[in-house]
Amino acid sequence: MAGKDYLWRGTAYGGAFRILAVEATQAAQQARDLHDLSPINALLMGKMLSAAAMLSLDLKAPGSEVSLRLDGSGPLSGALAICASSRALRCYAFNPRLYLDDPGENFQPVKQLGNGTLSVIRSAPDKRPTSGYTSLVSGELAQNLAHYYEQSEQIPTAVNLGVLIDKDASIKAAGGFIIQQLPAAPAEIAEELIAKLARTPNVSDLMDMGLSLRDILERFMFDSADFELLPVHSVRYECNCSKDRFARALILLSVGELEDMHAGIDPVCHFCTSTYHFSGGEIAALIAAKEHRA
Ligand SMILES: [Zn+2]
Repeated sequence: MAGKDYLWRGTAYGGAFRILAVEATQAAQQARDLHDLSPINALLMGKMLSAAAMLSLDLKAPGSEVSLRLDGSGPLSGALAICASSRALRCYAFNPRLYLDDPGENFQPVKQLGNGTLSVIRSAPDKRPTSGYTSLVSGELAQNLAHYYEQSEQIPTAVNLGVLIDKDASIKAAGGFIIQQLPAAPAEIAEELIAKLARTPNVSDLMDMGLSLRDILERFMFDSADFELLPVHSVRYECNCSKDRFARALILLSVGELEDMHAGIDPVCHFCTSTYHFSGGEIAALIAAKEHRA
Protein backbone atom coordinates (compact mmCIF):
# COMPACT_ATOMS: atom_id res chain seq x y z
CA MET A 1 0.00 0.00 0.00
CA ALA A 2 1.42 3.37 -0.96
CA GLY A 3 1.85 6.11 1.61
CA LYS A 4 0.21 9.49 1.78
CA ASP A 5 -0.65 11.31 -1.45
CA TYR A 6 1.81 14.08 -2.19
CA LEU A 7 2.51 16.84 -4.68
CA TRP A 8 6.09 17.54 -5.71
CA ARG A 9 7.73 20.41 -7.53
CA GLY A 10 11.17 20.70 -9.07
CA THR A 11 13.47 21.97 -11.79
CA ALA A 12 16.13 20.51 -14.05
CA TYR A 13 19.01 21.74 -16.20
CA GLY A 14 19.58 24.87 -14.15
CA GLY A 15 15.92 25.88 -14.16
CA ALA A 16 15.39 25.44 -17.90
CA PHE A 17 12.65 22.87 -17.18
CA ARG A 18 9.93 22.88 -14.56
CA ILE A 19 8.76 19.60 -13.01
CA LEU A 20 5.42 18.85 -11.34
CA ALA A 21 4.74 15.42 -9.91
CA VAL A 22 2.06 13.71 -7.83
CA GLU A 23 1.19 10.50 -6.06
CA ALA A 24 -2.60 10.20 -5.91
CA THR A 25 -3.19 6.53 -5.10
CA GLN A 26 -5.32 7.15 -1.99
CA ALA A 27 -7.45 9.83 -3.68
CA ALA A 28 -8.01 7.57 -6.70
CA GLN A 29 -9.04 4.72 -4.39
CA GLN A 30 -11.45 6.98 -2.52
CA ALA A 31 -13.00 8.20 -5.78
CA ARG A 32 -13.39 4.60 -6.97
CA ASP A 33 -15.12 3.59 -3.72
CA LEU A 34 -17.33 6.69 -3.34
CA HIS A 35 -18.63 6.57 -6.89
CA ASP A 36 -18.47 2.78 -7.38
CA LEU A 37 -16.48 3.43 -10.56
CA SER A 38 -16.20 0.77 -13.26
CA PRO A 39 -12.60 -0.05 -14.31
CA ILE A 40 -12.61 2.32 -17.31
CA ASN A 41 -13.87 5.14 -15.09
CA ALA A 42 -11.42 4.33 -12.28
CA LEU A 43 -8.59 4.40 -14.82
CA LEU A 44 -9.63 7.77 -16.21
CA MET A 45 -10.45 9.31 -12.83
CA GLY A 46 -7.13 8.38 -11.22
CA LYS A 47 -5.40 10.18 -14.08
CA MET A 48 -7.75 13.18 -13.91
CA LEU A 49 -7.22 13.55 -10.15
CA SER A 50 -3.44 13.34 -10.66
CA ALA A 51 -3.61 15.98 -13.40
CA ALA A 52 -5.94 18.30 -11.43
CA ALA A 53 -3.62 18.09 -8.40
CA MET A 54 -0.61 19.09 -10.54
CA LEU A 55 -2.59 21.91 -12.20
CA SER A 56 -3.34 23.25 -8.70
CA LEU A 57 0.36 24.09 -8.27
CA ASP A 58 -0.31 27.20 -10.40
CA LEU A 59 -3.17 28.44 -8.17
CA LYS A 60 -2.23 31.52 -6.23
CA ALA A 61 -5.17 33.02 -4.32
CA PRO A 62 -6.49 31.20 -1.23
CA GLY A 63 -9.92 29.74 -1.97
CA SER A 64 -9.18 29.29 -5.69
CA GLU A 65 -9.82 26.07 -7.60
CA VAL A 66 -8.87 24.41 -10.86
CA SER A 67 -11.26 22.06 -12.67
CA LEU A 68 -10.30 19.55 -15.34
CA ARG A 69 -13.33 18.53 -17.35
CA LEU A 70 -13.78 16.05 -20.17
CA ASP A 71 -16.92 16.01 -22.32
CA GLY A 72 -17.45 13.57 -25.15
CA SER A 73 -20.11 12.23 -27.50
CA GLY A 74 -19.06 8.59 -26.84
CA PRO A 75 -20.44 6.14 -24.26
CA LEU A 76 -18.09 7.27 -21.47
CA SER A 77 -19.58 10.79 -21.77
CA GLY A 78 -17.12 12.62 -19.50
CA ALA A 79 -15.92 13.44 -16.02
CA LEU A 80 -14.97 16.35 -13.81
CA ALA A 81 -12.09 16.58 -11.31
CA ILE A 82 -11.44 19.63 -9.15
CA CYS A 83 -8.47 20.56 -6.97
CA ALA A 84 -8.68 23.47 -4.54
CA SER A 85 -5.74 25.62 -3.48
CA SER A 86 -6.03 23.78 -0.13
CA ARG A 87 -5.14 20.60 -2.14
CA ALA A 88 -8.55 19.05 -1.51
CA LEU A 89 -9.59 16.95 -4.51
CA ARG A 90 -13.11 15.99 -5.55
CA CYS A 91 -14.62 14.52 -8.69
CA TYR A 92 -17.46 12.68 -10.37
CA ALA A 93 -17.93 10.68 -13.55
CA PHE A 94 -20.84 11.27 -15.95
CA ASN A 95 -21.37 7.55 -16.68
CA PRO A 96 -19.70 5.89 -13.66
CA ARG A 97 -20.75 2.27 -14.25
CA LEU A 98 -19.89 1.97 -17.96
CA TYR A 99 -18.46 -1.45 -18.76
CA LEU A 100 -17.60 -2.54 -22.31
CA ASP A 101 -17.98 -6.16 -23.37
CA ASP A 102 -14.62 -6.28 -25.12
CA PRO A 103 -12.18 -6.28 -22.15
CA GLY A 104 -9.50 -4.36 -24.08
CA GLU A 105 -11.88 -1.46 -24.67
CA ASN A 106 -12.04 -0.84 -20.91
CA PHE A 107 -8.43 0.33 -21.02
CA GLN A 108 -9.05 3.08 -23.58
CA PRO A 109 -11.07 5.79 -21.86
CA VAL A 110 -10.22 8.56 -24.32
CA LYS A 111 -11.43 6.42 -27.23
CA GLN A 112 -14.70 5.81 -25.35
CA LEU A 113 -15.15 9.55 -24.87
CA GLY A 114 -15.45 9.92 -28.65
CA ASN A 115 -15.39 13.42 -30.09
CA GLY A 116 -15.20 16.02 -27.40
CA THR A 117 -13.19 18.50 -25.41
CA LEU A 118 -10.78 18.83 -22.52
CA SER A 119 -11.41 22.00 -20.52
CA VAL A 120 -9.41 23.63 -17.76
CA ILE A 121 -11.36 26.11 -15.65
CA ARG A 122 -9.72 28.25 -12.97
CA SER A 123 -11.79 30.11 -10.41
CA ALA A 124 -10.90 32.40 -7.53
CA PRO A 125 -13.09 34.16 -4.97
CA ASP A 126 -14.62 37.40 -6.31
CA LYS A 127 -13.24 36.82 -9.81
CA ARG A 128 -14.77 35.62 -13.04
CA PRO A 129 -13.66 32.05 -13.78
CA THR A 130 -11.25 31.70 -16.73
CA SER A 131 -11.28 28.69 -18.99
CA GLY A 132 -9.50 27.17 -21.94
CA TYR A 133 -10.27 24.07 -23.93
CA THR A 134 -8.94 21.87 -26.69
CA SER A 135 -10.57 19.17 -28.83
CA LEU A 136 -9.77 15.63 -27.72
CA VAL A 137 -6.98 13.93 -29.65
CA SER A 138 -6.40 10.18 -29.80
CA GLY A 139 -4.20 8.49 -27.23
CA GLU A 140 -4.20 8.84 -23.48
CA LEU A 141 -5.26 11.66 -21.17
CA ALA A 142 -1.53 12.48 -20.84
CA GLN A 143 -1.30 13.29 -24.57
CA ASN A 144 -4.46 15.35 -24.34
CA LEU A 145 -3.10 17.36 -21.42
CA ALA A 146 0.20 17.98 -23.28
CA HIS A 147 -1.84 19.04 -26.33
CA TYR A 148 -3.88 21.41 -24.12
CA TYR A 149 -0.74 23.05 -22.70
CA GLU A 150 0.74 23.49 -26.17
CA GLN A 151 -2.42 24.74 -27.90
CA SER A 152 -4.09 26.73 -25.18
CA GLU A 153 -1.21 27.97 -23.03
CA GLN A 154 1.71 27.78 -25.54
CA ILE A 155 3.91 25.82 -23.12
CA PRO A 156 5.80 22.80 -24.56
CA THR A 157 4.92 20.07 -22.09
CA ALA A 158 5.60 16.37 -21.56
CA VAL A 159 3.11 14.38 -19.45
CA ASN A 160 3.07 10.87 -18.00
CA LEU A 161 -0.05 9.78 -16.07
CA GLY A 162 -0.74 6.29 -14.81
CA VAL A 163 -3.26 4.25 -12.85
CA LEU A 164 -2.72 0.59 -12.03
CA ILE A 165 -5.81 -1.39 -11.03
CA ASP A 166 -5.54 -4.67 -9.14
CA LYS A 167 -7.63 -7.77 -9.95
CA ASP A 168 -9.98 -6.93 -7.07
CA ALA A 169 -10.57 -3.48 -8.68
CA SER A 170 -8.58 -1.66 -5.98
CA ILE A 171 -6.10 1.00 -7.07
CA LYS A 172 -2.52 -0.24 -6.75
CA ALA A 173 -0.95 3.03 -7.85
CA ALA A 174 -1.98 6.37 -9.37
CA GLY A 175 0.17 9.36 -10.15
CA GLY A 176 2.08 11.24 -12.77
CA PHE A 177 4.49 13.94 -13.72
CA ILE A 178 4.57 16.97 -15.99
CA ILE A 179 7.78 18.46 -17.42
CA GLN A 180 7.52 21.93 -18.93
CA GLN A 181 10.04 23.63 -21.13
CA LEU A 182 10.73 27.21 -20.06
CA PRO A 183 11.72 29.81 -22.68
CA ALA A 184 15.46 29.53 -21.95
CA ALA A 185 15.54 25.75 -22.39
CA PRO A 186 17.88 24.46 -25.12
CA ALA A 187 15.87 22.83 -27.92
CA GLU A 188 18.17 19.80 -28.19
CA ILE A 189 17.64 18.92 -24.51
CA ALA A 190 13.87 19.27 -24.95
CA GLU A 191 14.00 16.84 -27.87
CA GLU A 192 16.09 14.42 -25.84
CA LEU A 193 13.55 14.57 -22.97
CA ILE A 194 10.67 13.85 -25.35
CA ALA A 195 12.54 10.79 -26.65
CA LYS A 196 13.17 9.66 -23.05
CA LEU A 197 9.51 10.16 -22.15
CA ALA A 198 8.53 7.88 -25.03
CA ARG A 199 10.83 5.17 -23.61
CA THR A 200 9.64 5.61 -19.99
CA PRO A 201 7.29 2.89 -18.78
CA ASN A 202 3.95 3.85 -17.31
CA VAL A 203 4.49 5.81 -14.10
CA SER A 204 1.96 3.70 -12.13
CA ASP A 205 3.76 0.45 -13.05
CA LEU A 206 7.01 1.96 -11.78
CA MET A 207 5.35 3.23 -8.57
CA ASP A 208 3.92 -0.24 -8.01
CA MET A 209 7.44 -1.65 -8.31
CA GLY A 210 8.33 0.52 -5.31
CA LEU A 211 10.05 3.39 -7.14
CA SER A 212 9.45 6.89 -5.81
CA LEU A 213 8.69 9.75 -8.21
CA ARG A 214 12.23 11.00 -7.62
CA ASP A 215 13.64 7.56 -8.56
CA ILE A 216 11.50 7.48 -11.71
CA LEU A 217 12.47 10.97 -12.88
CA GLU A 218 16.12 10.41 -12.06
CA ARG A 219 16.36 7.02 -13.70
CA PHE A 220 14.29 7.62 -16.84
CA MET A 221 14.32 11.35 -17.53
CA PHE A 222 17.28 13.20 -16.03
CA ASP A 223 19.93 10.59 -15.10
CA SER A 224 23.13 12.57 -14.55
CA ALA A 225 21.65 16.02 -15.26
CA ASP A 226 21.23 18.45 -12.38
CA PHE A 227 17.70 18.03 -11.14
CA GLU A 228 15.85 18.73 -7.94
CA LEU A 229 12.45 17.62 -6.72
CA LEU A 230 10.87 18.57 -3.41
CA PRO A 231 7.60 17.55 -1.73
CA VAL A 232 5.41 20.66 -1.46
CA HIS A 233 1.92 19.65 -0.30
CA SER A 234 -0.03 16.63 0.82
CA VAL A 235 -3.21 16.09 -1.24
CA ARG A 236 -6.40 14.28 -0.29
CA TYR A 237 -9.94 13.59 -1.47
CA GLU A 238 -12.20 15.94 0.44
CA CYS A 239 -15.53 17.49 -0.50
CA ASN A 240 -16.45 21.01 0.53
CA CYS A 241 -20.23 20.53 0.57
CA SER A 242 -22.48 21.43 3.49
CA LYS A 243 -26.18 21.92 4.11
CA ASP A 244 -25.54 25.66 4.10
CA ARG A 245 -23.99 25.46 0.60
CA PHE A 246 -27.05 23.57 -0.68
CA ALA A 247 -29.33 26.16 0.97
CA ARG A 248 -27.44 28.94 -0.86
CA ALA A 249 -27.95 27.09 -4.15
CA LEU A 250 -31.64 26.44 -3.45
CA ILE A 251 -32.34 30.08 -2.72
CA LEU A 252 -31.24 30.91 -6.29
CA LEU A 253 -34.21 28.90 -7.65
CA SER A 254 -37.49 30.62 -8.46
CA VAL A 255 -40.30 30.77 -5.88
CA GLY A 256 -42.32 28.49 -8.16
CA GLU A 257 -39.56 25.88 -8.24
CA LEU A 258 -39.18 26.05 -4.46
CA GLU A 259 -42.96 25.73 -3.99
CA ASP A 260 -42.80 22.47 -5.96
CA MET A 261 -40.56 21.17 -3.15
CA HIS A 262 -43.11 21.93 -0.40
CA ALA A 263 -43.00 18.34 0.85
CA GLY A 264 -39.24 18.59 1.43
CA ILE A 265 -36.27 17.36 -0.63
CA ASP A 266 -33.08 15.34 -0.15
CA PRO A 267 -30.43 16.65 -2.54
CA VAL A 268 -27.35 14.46 -2.98
CA CYS A 269 -23.84 15.87 -3.48
CA HIS A 270 -22.36 14.75 -6.84
CA PHE A 271 -18.84 14.79 -5.46
CA CYS A 272 -19.17 12.82 -2.19
CA THR A 273 -22.72 11.34 -2.31
CA SER A 274 -23.69 13.00 1.03
CA THR A 275 -27.44 13.59 1.31
CA TYR A 276 -28.93 16.67 2.97
CA HIS A 277 -32.53 16.76 4.12
CA PHE A 278 -34.60 19.92 3.72
CA SER A 279 -38.02 19.61 5.34
CA GLY A 280 -41.13 21.33 3.98
CA GLY A 281 -40.72 23.86 6.82
CA GLU A 282 -37.13 24.61 5.78
CA ILE A 283 -38.20 25.09 2.14
CA ALA A 284 -40.94 27.48 3.33
CA ALA A 285 -38.29 29.40 5.33
CA LEU A 286 -36.12 29.66 2.17
CA ILE A 287 -39.10 31.07 0.24
CA ALA A 288 -39.76 33.56 3.03
CA ALA A 289 -36.08 34.60 3.07
CA LYS A 290 -36.16 34.99 -0.70
CA GLU A 291 -39.30 37.14 -0.62
CA HIS A 292 -37.84 39.20 2.21
CA ARG A 293 -34.70 39.84 0.07
CA ALA A 294 -36.67 40.83 -3.05
ZN1 LIG B 1 -20.00 16.68 -1.13
